[in-house]
Amino acid sequence: MRKDVSRPGWGERLVFLLFPARCLWCGKAVLPEEFFCRECAGLVSAPRPRQFKLERTGQVLEVRAPALYRGGFRETLHRYKFQEQKGLAGQLGRLMAGQALPFGAEFDAVAYAPLSRQSLRDRGYDQSGLLAGRIAKALGVPLRPLLEKTKETKRQHTLGRAERLTNAKDVYRAKPETAGKTVLLVDDIVTTGATLCQCAEALYEAGAARVCGLCAASAEKEESHASV
Ligand SMILES: [Zn+2]
Repeated sequence: MRKDVSRPGWGERLVFLLFPARCLWCGKAVLPEEFFCRECAGLVSAPRPRQFKLERTGQVLEVRAPALYRGGFRETLHRYKFQEQKGLAGQLGRLMAGQALPFGAEFDAVAYAPLSRQSLRDRGYDQSGLLAGRIAKALGVPLRPLLEKTKETKRQHTLGRAERLTNAKDVYRAKPETAGKTVLLVDDIVTTGATLCQCAEALYEAGAARVCGLCAASAEKEESHASV
């Protein structure tokens, strides 16, 4: 029987006794295995899997996310990413892990789009790295920091679409140990897919066998020309 990766373990259940799980939309207390309360569950819409053609390698990157980047879920992600609410990583990670199964792949590694050293110093934590760690734990797959960011870029959400695509060029490098691995690539929010495509290209160039993208949320309104 397949393990239900989105269910919390006993350790996490004990933590929930002290700090109850909260609805990821409205913040109301929910049961440990739930992500949204009954009222909000109807508001959550699951996005279609996104596909991006990788310019340099010609491969197609498939990206999945458990929910659209909207409403209360968007606010929750904002609190996680910009207001230091790191505690949300556990619940978000388990929600995302459930979306890794439809890829039908046996992953060798969970990697993530990392912050630059400067951004990591400024923020104090890598939001995608924390999510990747929780996803790796839920799936029983090793977390591997296969990617490094080699130059500073402007924050993607402050830029227009065309700027985002050039902003993310040639900024990631994958380590040699990537060769031959099937990699689950984690990022927080997918908009144009520019960051994910750059990371996936770096992984393929280092010899990855297959790369699949997993995000917490998908901003679907902004369609990328890179979509296929
Ligand atoms: Zn709710």
